Amino acid sequence: MTQPIDYINAHKDRFLNELFELLKLPSVSADSAFKNDVIATADLIAKQLEKAGCESVTIYPTAGNPIVYGEKIINPELPTVLVYGHYDVQPADPIDLWDSAPFQPIIKKTDLHPDGAIFARGACDDKGQMYMHVKALEFMTQTDQLPCNVKYMIEGEEEVGSKNLGIFVSENKALLANDIILISDTGMIANDVPSITTGLRGLSYMEVAVTGPNRDLHSGLYGGAVANPINILTKMIASLQDEDNKITIPGFYDDVQELSEAEREAMAQAPFSLEAYCQALDIEGVYGEKGYTTNERNSIIPTF
Ligand SMILES: [Zn+2]
Repeated sequence: MTQPIDYINAHKDRFLNELFELLKLPSVSADSAFKNDVIATADLIAKQLEKAGCESVTIYPTAGNPIVYGEKIINPELPTVLVYGHYDVQPADPIDLWDSAPFQPIIKKTDLHPDGAIFARGACDDKGQMYMHVKALEFMTQTDQLPCNVKYMIEGEEEVGSKNLGIFVSENKALLANDIILISDTGMIANDVPSITTGLRGLSYMEVAVTGPNRDLHSGLYGGAVANPINILTKMIASLQDEDNKITIPGFYDDVQELSEAEREAMAQAPFSLEAYCQALDIEGVYGEKGYTTNERNSIIPTF
């Protein structure tokens, strides 16, 4: 039976060229100037999915950027894995902080990557990861080792809030029906540490306006008598966490699933150096809700 590593070594140059082709497309979803590149990226992924072994591939238009869908159903009785990924990238600005052009991928060795790593916008969020899962299908179909049905749903608006994904999902429930969702938008602890991400944080943000008196006030005449909005605002922000950094918003933890002991133990086994972590950030220690390890704070506990 062909092993994945042998297949990777045999096809490495082609894999890199194909990934580079993907990385060269500036699929920036936040800037409409890149609209054509976004469309071209969706087209390229559709082609790659077909080449990898998907039997049916469709580019679904949305009110925003298209969603690329592909599937390989080998036996409806078998479980189905749905792979989620995104092909859009963050803007590359400020360009002058880049050592190399953001859309000209290169392999460089650095202190952090002594064996070399690909540098390009989107290389590790999320084109690299998504491409890896496309190539996993290629490997399994080419070597006749695919053990289940696979569906791919690759969107182009993740970096701008996935506005149209929810609509697409609710309108295509039968198409997307699956047993397991594999999120192809995470990381690995290290090259030699296979990692399974079991939880991801969502994000909620809001804008709060605090208003004060009807005009700018002289501090000598009004100071101390009239509240300054900035003082009120800082009090509000500070009151959102207690001394143990636990979030004080009523109901905040209501739907939060507590980690089980087994999960905590498994996370504790993940290799992690607090010292290296602090050193890399030039900080003296870590912050966050008391009672959690840094591994847990880094990735899964609710935060504010
Ligand atoms: Zn991402």
